[in-house]
Amino acid sequence: MKQAKNDMIVSLKDIFVEFDGEVILNHIDLDIRDKEFVTILGPSGCGKTTTLRIIGGFLEPDSGEVYFDGRKINGLPPHKRNVNTVFQKYSLFPHLNVFDNIAFGMRIKKMPKDEIKKRVKEMLAIVDLKGYEKRSVARLSGGQQQRVAIARALVCDPKVLLLDEPLGALDLKLRKNMQDELKQIQQKTNTTFIYVTHDQEEALTMSDTVVVMNNGVIEQIGSPTDVYNEPINAFVADFIGEANIINAVMLEDCRVLVLGEVLECVDKGFGKNTPVDIVIRPEDIELVEPSQAQLIGEVVDVTFKGVHYEMTIMCKGCEWIVHSTECAAVGDIVGMKVIPFNIQIMNKMFPKSYNEFVCSVVAGDEAENTFTVSLEGSEIDVKGHYFPEGTRLHVVLPTDALSIAGDGEGDLNDVYIESVIFKGEHNEIILESDEQKWLMQSDVDEQVATYVPLKLDFSKARYTVLKGEVSADEI
Ligand code: ATP
Repeated sequence: MKQAKNDMIVSLKDIFVEFDGEVILNHIDLDIRDKEFVTILGPSGCGKTTTLRIIGGFLEPDSGEVYFDGRKINGLPPHKRNVNTVFQKYSLFPHLNVFDNIAFGMRIKKMPKDEIKKRVKEMLAIVDLKGYEKRSVARLSGGQQQRVAIARALVCDPKVLLLDEPLGALDLKLRKNMQDELKQIQQKTNTTFIYVTHDQEEALTMSDTVVVMNNGVIEQIGSPTDVYNEPINAFVADFIGEANIINAVMLEDCRVLVLGEVLECVDKGFGKNTPVDIVIRPEDIELVEPSQAQLIGEVVDVTFKGVHYEMTIMCKGCEWIVHSTECAAVGDIVGMKVIPFNIQIMNKMFPKSYNEFVCSVVAGDEAENTFTVSLEGSEIDVKGHYFPEGTRLHVVLPTDALSIAGDGEGDLNDVYIESVIFKGEHNEIILESDEQKWLMQSDVDEQVATYVPLKLDFSKARYTVLKGEVSADEI
């Protein structure tokens, strides 16, 4: 039997899940260390709960392997896994008191009465509910009920506790208190916690390790400081904390071209003249005299945030967010400076050849100067160009040739919005149709994880006529 890495308590290998023909988990690998507090973080619908259900044994993957403590456990039912789960809805038994709720599982296991009493007492101390044994759970606050649920899940001493948005139903203040408490409970009980949330602050506050998911894949695994300070791509940078994400070109090691200015950075190995994304956190931009600045801009908005001012600065057509304890006024011309260490360089997220495809002309009308192409099962009429029927075309569309059809009549329908990232000037939106990914520019804030009709403006297309059979290289 294949062994998981030494101190790994849970390992997922090449997990693939499809629901109704839709890929939900796309070959994910994940190793979770014993006694770690791991948070799976990502937007709604990215596959977090599905991942948790696979670990808990509530769902079998279509392919891939699940290891627990080095042993393959595919097919093992949930009650035979040394794992317990706490859900957002804590489903306590309303007619039982706190003691009986926590003792329930142990009574089913027919454990000795004294042992049950001892364990419930210990757990009540850990979750800070000493003296609440006889209280009806219906008379507890939301936070107290959640602590009973956690005590009930931990009392049988599972090696791993799965927590699916357990604080989602609590108000903000209670949520924050419970975050601290959960971390303490995890440390006191020495249990591995695998925690699912879409709240990035929660993830950063509690976790030893954060797993950032997006659209069925794991984008990055790292400590909270790693994913904040060194996001691997624009999605992670945007999802975790506020960020200025700007298109740039890596000229060579340690030199990056940003809005026409060459800035020093510390990153290497991106090659020469490579298009990249850069991220600069708002708190890492220093406001200086324009004469000492790397970039100069005009303050267009100022908001006091309690500890700092949040300023929006327009610089060469791009919006920059700056956090500073110094306040500038709207209309001021200010200088911005960033030390090389605080400019994070990231590979671009989309494939090199986005918005490129091969399609066949299914009808052409030379007199009308029009043709019709077949693309992913749709027929699209194109005006202002003619190609004869049967022509095979390689088409490249610029990002501004794509738009979401406001009237619902798209050239491609049910195209999935994978991410929306503001790049200073406009949003860059990555979409996925049946056969490929698309990159679109938009000034509108579209909703991620939704399906939209996509319009393709062929008048902006670049065409190459393909001869004979089409090879993979041509696509
Ligand atoms: P959220 O934060 O909203 O709970 P999530 O990241 O936990 O989202 P999942 O619950 O894992 O996401 O769901 C991922 C995708 O799989 C969603 O698009 C969801 O609609 C779909 N899905 C989940 N369970 C099923 C199911 N049993 N049948 C069909 N589709 C499903």
